[in-house]
Amino acid sequence: MTEHAVVIAGGGPTGLMLAGELALAGVDVAVVERRPNQDLAGARAGGLSSRTIEVLDQRGIADRFLAEGQVAQVTGFAVTRLDISDFPTRHNYGLALRQKHIERILAGWVTELEVPILYGREVTGFTHHDAGVDVALADGQSLRAQYLVGCDGGRSFVRKAAGIDFPGWDPTTSSILAEVEMTTQPPYGVHRTAAGVHAFGREEYEIKNGEIIYKDVGPIGVMVTEPRIRAESTASRSVRDDIKDQPIANSTTEPTLRDLKELLIAACGTDYGVHNLTWISRFTDMTRQAAAYRKGRVFLAGDAAHVHSPIGGQGLNTGVQDAVNLGWKLAQVINGTSPESLLDTYHAERHPVGARVLKNTMAQVALHRTDERTLAVRDIVGELLQMEEPRKRIAGMMSGLDIRYELGEGHALLGRRMPDLDPVTDNGSLRVFTLLHKARPVLLNLGEAGTVDIAPWAGRVELVNAKYAGTWELPSLGAVTAPTAVLIRPDGYVAWVGEETQAGLTDALTTWFGSPTA
Ligand SMILES: Cc1cc2nc3c(=O)[nH]c(=O)nc-3n(C[C@H](O)[C@H](O)[C@H](O)COP(=O)(O)OP(=O)(O)OC[C@H]3O[C@@H](n4cnc5c(N)ncnc54)[C@H](O)[C@@H]3O)c2cc1C
Repeated sequence: MTEHAVVIAGGGPTGLMLAGELALAGVDVAVVERRPNQDLAGARAGGLSSRTIEVLDQRGIADRFLAEGQVAQVTGFAVTRLDISDFPTRHNYGLALRQKHIERILAGWVTELEVPILYGREVTGFTHHDAGVDVALADGQSLRAQYLVGCDGGRSFVRKAAGIDFPGWDPTTSSILAEVEMTTQPPYGVHRTAAGVHAFGREEYEIKNGEIIYKDVGPIGVMVTEPRIRAESTASRSVRDDIKDQPIANSTTEPTLRDLKELLIAACGTDYGVHNLTWISRFTDMTRQAAAYRKGRVFLAGDAAHVHSPIGGQGLNTGVQDAVNLGWKLAQVINGTSPESLLDTYHAERHPVGARVLKNTMAQVALHRTDERTLAVRDIVGELLQMEEPRKRIAGMMSGLDIRYELGEGHALLGRRMPDLDPVTDNGSLRVFTLLHKARPVLLNLGEAGTVDIAPWAGRVELVNAKYAGTWELPSLGAVTAPTAVLIRPDGYVAWVGEETQAGLTDALTTWFGSPTA
């Protein structure tokens, strides 16, 4: 039986990111992916949020994505676009880039890191024992691992087999998404009618001055709301077995070209001569979250842990950030520097983040309804979002830049993302994110060199003495007091803040990076 420290079920964006994180930490990891290769049929995510671009920048790979995508002010809440160009980050924008490209670039990185991706293989079972998990594959082979991570999407086999509950809310709306050709050009953009929302756009486009300019040729992407939810609702049960496993797209009751034609005629009075269907799928606003992100040696991340409406474009982004939270923790436990209990902080930190995403998508779905009363609410929410404080608050949430892990009372930086400042060392100026490329913890000492002592953690935590004279500003919050030192976790979140004293540093180092060595 082949052995790995970690087996990841699913090589979508979450599984690939996790594989990269583990490989950077020197962990032996393998990805099992059901698809025969990384090709992705159909449209899914359309881009990356500001915080995800930052996270990729922390690993030195953001440029690969920026080179292929289109930078734009794409952050939004329901129908309101939120400009984040004044946010204190190098990436004060979103990136329009289709999921198939995001996955291809991630897979390229993971391959460079020499992680085996077992394409065309499927996880079909596993058994837990004290020392690990034996993972059964569809071809009859098995893999042995210390940990199994289910990054296997909304229908997650791993989640179901682990017996992890997936409570939440039934869908209230369902839409068909397709890639087609049309004999008559439809009106591009998003349209709201009494029949619901529908949208058209060429698959290929450019963004110029914030406007989408579609190419003249190429397939057309269509989205139409269905008049009723295909997975019939039985309101008396909050978790329905019949739709529990329905993915956010690719329902088991696959829609057809005929369904699409009928919906277009009902919504637009014409089907625009739709033909040459290359793919079609259905997505809903089913909203569910795994009750536990960890069960023993089994973890869930990405869509396996949370599904919700794609509105606001947060699914892939949340999954990638789940992976970055889990990767270094798993690595430290596997490498023997931290106790198993560190792994519980994954659920403690990421479950609330997921819950907030679920909540904001439900609010946005409600605001998308087309009745007069919802229109009135939408207008008022739109007005509020023109105001500075609400815009900053909601844009902080939608861009992922305002995430704060609950690490206790203290300086505003504690538990928040470390800004990508340019401190100056004896060797010149550097970027904080560059220090994180190896996914290792960093203690940035901005006070007198030699005043911070981390000798017992010397091999684990990199100590960097530097000076920084600029201001410290956080998205949504504004300016904060300059610290004299910061302990930065490999995921870029601040674990401890020094304010002229080292009080609490030993505890923080021990909590996050293991007991001091003799
Ligand atoms: C219409 C639409 C638009 C969206 N737009 C956005 C957006 O703009 N921004 C955004 O952030 N998100 C968006 N999303 C959500 C995004 O697509 C998902 O959140 C994202 O794909 C989740 O990544 P994942 O890796 O967790 O899961 P998946 O992408 O579902 O990957 C799971 C992988 O596991 C594999 N797999 C499944 N079962 C097994 C098994 N048993 N063994 C081995 N392999 C297995 C699958 O083949 C798949 O490759 C959108 C989704 C839809 C439907």
